[in-house]
Amino acid sequence: MVQTIQQVAVIGAGTMGNGIAHVFAQSGFAVKLIDVNAAQLEKAAQTITKNFDRQVAKGTVTEEQKNKALSNITTETDLIKGVRDAELVVEAATENTDLKLKIFKQLDEVAPAGAILATNTSSISITKIAAATKRAGKVIGMHFMNPVPVMKLVEIINGYATEASVTETIVTLSKQLGKVPCTVNDYPGFIANRILMPMINEAIYSLYEGVAGVEEIDTVMKLGMAHPMGPLQLADFIGLDVCHSILNVLHEGFGNPKYAPCPLLVNMVTAGYLGAKSGEGFYKYEPGSRDLKVSERFK
Ligand code: NAD
Repeated sequence: MVQTIQQVAVIGAGTMGNGIAHVFAQSGFAVKLIDVNAAQLEKAAQTITKNFDRQVAKGTVTEEQKNKALSNITTETDLIKGVRDAELVVEAATENTDLKLKIFKQLDEVAPAGAILATNTSSISITKIAAATKRAGKVIGMHFMNPVPVMKLVEIINGYATEASVTETIVTLSKQLGKVPCTVNDYPGFIANRILMPMINEAIYSLYEGVAGVEEIDTVMKLGMAHPMGPLQLADFIGLDVCHSILNVLHEGFGNPKYAPCPLLVNMVTAGYLGAKSGEGFYKYEPGSRDLKVSERFK
């Protein structure tokens, strides 16, 4: 049976958390946005307002709808207070296994007994996270894509013990948010990253082996396969450290050497060349410039 959800708590107010709070608030849910870092909560509130302003300017949301949505969001630094009334918790804290296990153990103790506990993890096993609680049937993956207000997909991941009614509730809810849910089972990388990351890794191998340059690799995939962004640019956008850690999850999870991160990727991450967020990856990023310039290292 589908559970009725009105009160949602979102844990983590970073890139994904602010977007998740945005879409729930826009669809009329009461949202408690929780982060251990008060400055991050303030920054998230500003980002959400700015993103709603952009929607108003585009005409997709009215000023009144914006104000109503913003009034649906409150912020909180204390997890216990934040989840006290939650019917659904969506965890979007930093991608770190120990941290998520700790958060879920605590959530199980403090969230209402019937609450569904969802995680936005990109790669950590839902089954493992669920095993940190005494309500594994109520734990599920709800994997939004970045930027959340724009991207339509929600990859819903059933852990080994997830109850069918919980999946049904999250599928229904995702549709209420105007998203398109796709339900998959819990194996390393789920579907999105299991397919995307080997493609990105192969693009990096092609560069590493001198088969082609950065622009050529990205252009072949954009114009030849109708991808909106080439794999090397996409890797820069996701963050090379994130790609590296997801490839490690695939490599360890399947025990298959085909998933081992390319040595060039490992070197770049070790040296701090993480893509757009650090200013340089396969491309060079200058503040205020939208031009895509290949890094001097690959010319
Ligand atoms: P982020 O680093 O931007 O934000 C994480 C936030 O979590 C930070 O604000 C941090 O202060 C907060 N946090 C850390 N520990 C906490 C705790 N104990 N309680 C409450 N808040 C805590 O990270 P992000 O990119 O938003 O990623 C969040 C999750 O979403 C990760 O699991 C990631 O794998 C997943 N994800 C990210 C993307 C992406 O493109 N960035 C896409 C899909 C899924």
